[in-house]
Amino acid sequence: MTIPLVERLAVTTIPFIDLAAQQQRIRPQIDAAIARVLAHGAYVMGPEVRAFEQQLAAFCGAAHAVSCANGTEALALPLMAWEIGPGDAVFCPSFTFAATGEVIPWLGASPVFVDILPDTYNLDPDKLEAAIAAIEAEGRLKPRAVIAVDLFGQPADYPRIAEIARRHGLKLIADSAQGFGCTLGERHPVAWADVATTSFFPAKPLGCYGDGGAVLTNDAWLAERLDSLRVHGKATASDIAGRIFDHDPKYLNMRVGLNSRLDTLQAAILIEKLAIFASEIEARGRIARRYAEGLAGVVAQVPAVIEGGVSTWAQYTIEHADRDGLAAHLKTQGVPSAAYYPMPMHRQDCYAGYPQPGGLPVSEAKAQTVLSLPMHAYLDEETQDRVIEAVRGFNG
Ligand SMILES: *Cc1c(COP(=O)(O)O)cnc(C)c1O
Repeated sequence: MTIPLVERLAVTTIPFIDLAAQQQRIRPQIDAAIARVLAHGAYVMGPEVRAFEQQLAAFCGAAHAVSCANGTEALALPLMAWEIGPGDAVFCPSFTFAATGEVIPWLGASPVFVDILPDTYNLDPDKLEAAIAAIEAEGRLKPRAVIAVDLFGQPADYPRIAEIARRHGLKLIADSAQGFGCTLGERHPVAWADVATTSFFPAKPLGCYGDGGAVLTNDAWLAERLDSLRVHGKATASDIAGRIFDHDPKYLNMRVGLNSRLDTLQAAILIEKLAIFASEIEARGRIARRYAEGLAGVVAQVPAVIEGGVSTWAQYTIEHADRDGLAAHLKTQGVPSAAYYPMPMHRQDCYAGYPQPGGLPVSEAKAQTVLSLPMHAYLDEETQDRVIEAVRGFNG
């Protein structure tokens, strides 16, 4: 049986994220980079790792970049370096990917879930302030740190969040796994936060071909600690300075660490991807503006970006009262979509017992209405128009 042409076109599913289009753009550079690693054979902590770290730090104006195995351990490493543990409270949003809150109980500390702003989906500074006051008043946990998330690619309100963190003596982590490359007034989150972390999971705006992550900081002491912790707590230059050993200090473990390294092959791939990243952020911005023009007034909400902010648009997320109905309709049109996130962390059984002072009504409401549309730097206008028309079609 032959399917009529119109129907065949109608059922062609477009990609949600088109990694193949990016690969096509830089395939020769990627092939050459991989070939160089195969030739020198330094698969772990090879020269590309240090070179990439320097380029990554320069990209966001940080003094130091310490790469690691993934974006989750990038969050855990600074908490370990600051010796955050049992009895400590770490404040974070609940409307985020699970990794943000997951690393806190790893160390025996307690997440304290804080609600978000309804327009940017990022941490609400007023609610953060109230949550800190509630935990201090209760007196059971010691506030130690805040993890702000650059959800869907845009910077959290760092000027306000950093001021609150400093005033309460708390460390500030920017979880920029989705937002690495985002800016506020042309400054990257690490300009305010003690550390910014990122993930190189393939689907993130700056992804590799496997798992990877990095921690960025302006704190030289911390960078040295992180470098030690990611290699089993190995002795650092300042640990061994002035000491004499009757064994190789390589096997001197100064602290309990872990194995969390970025593979040389992934660093080599990332060097090539970082070279085109700024142009990709620009393309993503252009595509997001086109979505806003096509969909404003058609759906309940198109994304708002904080004043002075530049998003990397890890997701382009709209809201609709009948989110599931819209998603089902889009699927019939060959348009994939995804609900990030359908259940906030504080509602998941394994996290429900942690403090959530004042409740999280905004997070709970957003979980019902958000829907992310296809978004990547290589989304051409014709394909994007298909997405826009499909969304408009649902409204009749
Ligand atoms: C992806 C992601 C992480 C974790 O990154 P992995 O590399 O997958 O471990 C952390 N936080 C947020 C907000 C993320 O989106």
